[in-house]
Amino acid sequence: MLGLMQSQPLLISSLIDFAERHHADAEIVSRRVEGDIHRYTWKDVATRARQLANALDGMNLPFSGRVATLAWNGYRHLELYFGVSGSGRVLHTINPRLHPDQITWIVAHAEDQVLCFDMSFLPLVQAVHARCPSIRQYVALCEADKLPADTGIPNLVSYESWIGGHATRYEWPSFDENSASSMCYTSGTTGNPKAALYSHRSTILHAYAAALPDVMCLSARDSVLPVVPMFHVNAWGIPYSAALAGCKLVLPGGLLDGKSVYELIEAEQVTFAAGVPTVWQTLLGHLKSEGLRFSALKRTVIGGAACPPAMLKAFRQDHGVEVLHGWGMTEMSPLGTLCALKKKHLSMPIEEQWTVLAKQGRAVFGVEMKIVDDDGNDLPWDGKACGDLYVKGPWVVREYFKGEGGDPLVYQNGVGWFPTGDVATIDSDGYLQITDRSKDVIKSGGEWISSIEVENIAMAHPAVQIAACIGMKHPKWDERPIVVVVKKPGAEVTKQDLLESYEGKIAKWQMPDDAVFVEAIPLGATGKMLKTRLREMLKDYCLPGVLTSL
Ligand code: AMP
Repeated sequence: MLGLMQSQPLLISSLIDFAERHHADAEIVSRRVEGDIHRYTWKDVATRARQLANALDGMNLPFSGRVATLAWNGYRHLELYFGVSGSGRVLHTINPRLHPDQITWIVAHAEDQVLCFDMSFLPLVQAVHARCPSIRQYVALCEADKLPADTGIPNLVSYESWIGGHATRYEWPSFDENSASSMCYTSGTTGNPKAALYSHRSTILHAYAAALPDVMCLSARDSVLPVVPMFHVNAWGIPYSAALAGCKLVLPGGLLDGKSVYELIEAEQVTFAAGVPTVWQTLLGHLKSEGLRFSALKRTVIGGAACPPAMLKAFRQDHGVEVLHGWGMTEMSPLGTLCALKKKHLSMPIEEQWTVLAKQGRAVFGVEMKIVDDDGNDLPWDGKACGDLYVKGPWVVREYFKGEGGDPLVYQNGVGWFPTGDVATIDSDGYLQITDRSKDVIKSGGEWISSIEVENIAMAHPAVQIAACIGMKHPKWDERPIVVVVKKPGAEVTKQDLLESYEGKIAKWQMPDDAVFVEAIPLGATGKMLKTRLREMLKDYCLPGVLTSL
């Protein structure tokens, strides 16, 4: 017997319709690449998204045609989120920090037909356009009078003149909720990048889940700052959840230094912010050096990389800001787990609460997870057994765009699981702790060593700016960890001091065999440490007591 409820497709256009109807005057504040502040409302986003949809119809861009962006977080980018997907096309957000060769590869692979870009990326587009034959319309995200006459880019219009002449009325089409809505290529530190192709259904379900209390807890009383870029996994889905919840949205543009982010947080009375640890590191550094405080910020989600416990404590103890440590992936839209305490934790001593809060957290409803051993057997949720993390759910990838890389799933009893490439423990309360990545793991004498733990201890040292733990070949133990460190400007620490700081914190065999000081650690386009590159840098390095590099 079928249920007797209405069946309406879950479409992104319904989010912007809802925001316009119920939160018309909630503000969208953007710091433009020009440096000034732009303000308008959800009603304006909706009106201009419809004009944009008319512009796409006007150029006969087909259903599922790809519209690419090279843009920071800003209001025109937001309009593209709704106008492109709402009208049935696919929004392809490109990471502008990638190498131009990678960008041209991605544009060709995605078969993008329109490319919209912030004026700050004009030189980049000038450098790549001749190698992007699929693009038939270039759109500069600016007013007509801001567009230089002689850019050398064919078929280039300003965004304002492109959408300006079009009607503000538009009937959003209805179609299968499983249709593609947006896409994002993975960072591609190995091999060619692969794209996750999100659907309307996966995006809406993810938007509901992200707004839940133990996830981002979004409401119409929040002022929300996604520092996480709109070109990285749809800014963790925040633009969609903000429309659903009617939040004020604050979009920071390209200025992500501590001072600029702090000023925006204060000026717009931001209550919730989200971003990767590196951004918060500079923000906290600015607050400390200037003796500043937040007046409105209550919560922040920190994810994308492990949040060092020292950062968690600094936010909570020094600033009264609740940190939710989150874990996810491009392939998971991205939310997988978030770390909020349960009721029973509240009566525990604070040190025990820190231990829980440093984990990556509990699964968001919709995401199923498990850990398995090398033979694919399920491991217990005891907080000790460490294994490969598999996930499944309605916003987890089934296959990459164009079937790239073959079937990514692992099948068990006919059920497909996505292997995350992360190694984790799960405790009896369901709290996930990422201990490493399977491609970047240190196994010494058959035992796992968490490079994250080794890094966190180094990062808690006052003289350390950034630390990476990598495994070095060892004749007896197979691998031994070393910690590679960049010192804070002007700070001093000796190798011996640093290694002594591990005493008592982790088991002796887990402590790094050496500390190596370097000027810089190579970072990928999204700020992740490129450990393969780091290993190349240190290829002539010998572990203490080992005569030659192996
Ligand atoms: P990306 O697809 O670029 O977002 O990268 C996803 C990967 O980043 C995950 O598979 C993890 O290896 C890593 N990652 C994301 N969040 C965390 C976290 N909170 N702690 C540790 N690693 C993380």
